[in-house]
Amino acid sequence: MGKVYLIDVTNRDGVQTAKLGLSKLAKTMLNMYLDEMGVYQSEFGFPTTRHESNYLRANLKLQAMDVLKSIRLSGWMRATAEDVEKAFRLVPELKVLNLSISTSSQMIRGKFLGSKSEEDILSLAAEAIEAAKAHGAESIGVNAEDASRTDTDFLLRFAALARERGADRFRYCDTLGYDNPFTIYEACKLLAQELDIPIELHCHGDLGMAVANSVAGAMGVIDGGQDAYINTTVNGIGERAGNADLVAVVLALKKSKGLARKYKFGVPIRLSMAWKICKYASYAFGVPIPINQPGVGANAFAHSSGIHADGVLKDPENYELYDFKELGRGEPEMVETGREICSGEYSGISGFKHLMGKMEIHFESSEEAEEILELARYANVLAQKPLVADELRFIARYPDITRQLLTMTPLSESAYRQVEV
Ligand SMILES: [Zn+2]
Repeated sequence: MGKVYLIDVTNRDGVQTAKLGLSKLAKTMLNMYLDEMGVYQSEFGFPTTRHESNYLRANLKLQAMDVLKSIRLSGWMRATAEDVEKAFRLVPELKVLNLSISTSSQMIRGKFLGSKSEEDILSLAAEAIEAAKAHGAESIGVNAEDASRTDTDFLLRFAALARERGADRFRYCDTLGYDNPFTIYEACKLLAQELDIPIELHCHGDLGMAVANSVAGAMGVIDGGQDAYINTTVNGIGERAGNADLVAVVLALKKSKGLARKYKFGVPIRLSMAWKICKYASYAFGVPIPINQPGVGANAFAHSSGIHADGVLKDPENYELYDFKELGRGEPEMVETGREICSGEYSGISGFKHLMGKMEIHFESSEEAEEILELARYANVLAQKPLVADELRFIARYPDITRQLLTMTPLSESAYRQVEV
């Protein structure tokens, strides 16, 4: 029986969201939390984008240092040999890749404007896979963009070719949120039955069904005999109406009627991280968690009407499907209501030592304190808001990694070609 795995794409699809973004430190913190939560893989960024290079390499270093313990870090790029070459030039340590190309006739016609045929799509993907293998990629996922609007025969041909050329997973992208739970179940079951390859579900919420479609698609994949990999984002942040929300997907698989018996996670998920990671993503993106968000919304465990309040006080199971403690809620949180010293890009040593002292971080020497302060100032330049305790702890603990994360040097294309990686 196949299992369910989670691939979080907040650091790739989430940060592509219009009007939103994350600092490189915030992306790193999310990787740390996702790892702690037991998420199988983080699609951690864009290896062909030059301002990502130091961040990506620093995170691969954290993985080599065993700070990021079990999470896999995958780079996303277009499925062309040119993008693969560029990715490995900028991030030579990359091991896990996702290669993406449009497969629907709408996009082949509408994006390439007659310059590419279905056969061209197949050969581009084949060349990209070949290039990735030549560079020693250990795991390759191939993404069919707009799979839900792709002709089934061509989708099968595309996925079969990817498998044949050495791809390890096939991503079914419901790029526009066009599917519904019934159509995606059938489509993914057929793919799983016809192809000998694990399948990823990538769903969007344009019709409000991203979580339901992810779960139904995963059920189809498993019923068809393969492992299912669900793409999520923290708080469902993603382009337009967003992606499948990480916590809601976990809750659905664990708590919905009868699902947990048949559809199990391949690696245990620590749901108790939910509160922490969702609050952090909300702070980092600057987007409040909706009051009614599953599990972590302010009202997820709130009751006021007489019948409900009476019922939940007698037995919480009367009106709650799961306990707030399972999501890491219920602990008191300290909020400063009086004088506050916070970090900033113009911070000085006295305030900084006071701030760090409150977290019981003390420095061996004044040189060390100055060094960490300098890094915190630069982190503030990128964040443009006071850093939170976990970020300051990270900076104090991994100063060299932080320096790499914060280093960005814009260069012209020709200057880049001369840089030794
Ligand atoms: Zn997407």
